[in-house]
Amino acid sequence: MTKTLLLLPGDGIGPEVTAQSRRLVGWLNANAGLDVSVCEARFGGAAIDADGVPLTPETLALAKASDAVLMGAVGGPQWAKQSYDKRPEAGLLALRAGMEVFANLRPALCFAALADASSLKREFVEGLDIMFVRELTGGVYFGEPRGISDLGNGERRGVNTQVYTSSEIRRVARVAFELAAKRTGRVCSAEKSNVMESGLLWREEVQALRDAEYPHIDLSHMLADNTAMQLVKYPKQFDVILTDNLFGDILSDEAAMLTGSLGMLPSAALGVKGMPGLYEPIHGSAPDIAGKGLANPCASILSLALALRYSLDRGDLADRVEKAVATALDRGARTGDIGGTLGTVAMGDAVLAALAG
Ligand code: ATP
Ligand code: MG
Repeated sequence: MTKTLLLLPGDGIGPEVTAQSRRLVGWLNANAGLDVSVCEARFGGAAIDADGVPLTPETLALAKASDAVLMGAVGGPQWAKQSYDKRPEAGLLALRAGMEVFANLRPALCFAALADASSLKREFVEGLDIMFVRELTGGVYFGEPRGISDLGNGERRGVNTQVYTSSEIRRVARVAFELAAKRTGRVCSAEKSNVMESGLLWREEVQALRDAEYPHIDLSHMLADNTAMQLVKYPKQFDVILTDNLFGDILSDEAAMLTGSLGMLPSAALGVKGMPGLYEPIHGSAPDIAGKGLANPCASILSLALALRYSLDRGDLADRVEKAVATALDRGARTGDIGGTLGTVAMGDAVLAALAG
């Protein structure tokens, strides 16, 4: 049956990199037995300019009715000074919340051809393949109470609250266990159970779910500060790292830098089984190079690969696309961010050529 993919190109380099992923879908439809129909909608700053809001109710409905959503990037200096609800980023949070995508998958994958671009020595990162599973819709970014209050005499107080319920912890832990079962079977859960009640609950719930339903998973627990150290000391010790919204934000950015390039890394945000996933590069809209045809499309192409694997039931094609990106790099294809001279379209050509054989 035909599956549907909604493209939200967004702002800055978003439309340029998304166009290369769209080309790839066309190629896979024509040559590899894929059956995906693509549609496009405005999102972020582009939607603010045309529709007055970053995410219209129609676009959200379209996203929820699709099998997968592939986003480019949102934001740019021209919208940065507007009130929050008129900012592109507000559209992104509304989309994540509206689609109820609570599990953020962020691979930190080091391509052999780029291993020398890491801040660590080649031997420490070559073959690196970590999958972060970050809780995305709870924790301290959303907990109540929150706000800044005036205490008088010029003194002020800022409050955020870290809150997790057992069901929020278990549903994201389940995603990590299911993923690990298809990899090496190891999950490391990172929290601060020594100083935080929510961290203690996190550790207890993750362990209880593992004992009850995933006895074959090799689960370890690590304090998040130690995880940060271990990531730069010996990152290859990790397979799947499960963690909350805040620690996951920081630790996955740290690990991304080990792999050499922002322009190469995809992400997925998943909700309950059967609901559409949201896929996007981890990089931003890169206003400094937007419209110049210089952006690296690989993060978008690899995000499409994740969509093929997790939402479009074509894990086989996901493997092929990932292999094609690695092959293009092995053959020397490089955009500027990874030390080469190719433009966006030429890099897309190189991946398509590798895919074709
Ligand atoms: P945001 O707030 O939107 O996440 P950011 O400050 O994190 O933005 P990015 O937009 O990700 O920044 O860009 C950071 C730097 O990396 C910029 O110099 C940008 O040009 C470069 N960059 C980001 N993505 C790419 C890409 N796909 N190809 C080439 N360079 C990129
Ligand atoms: Mg950023």
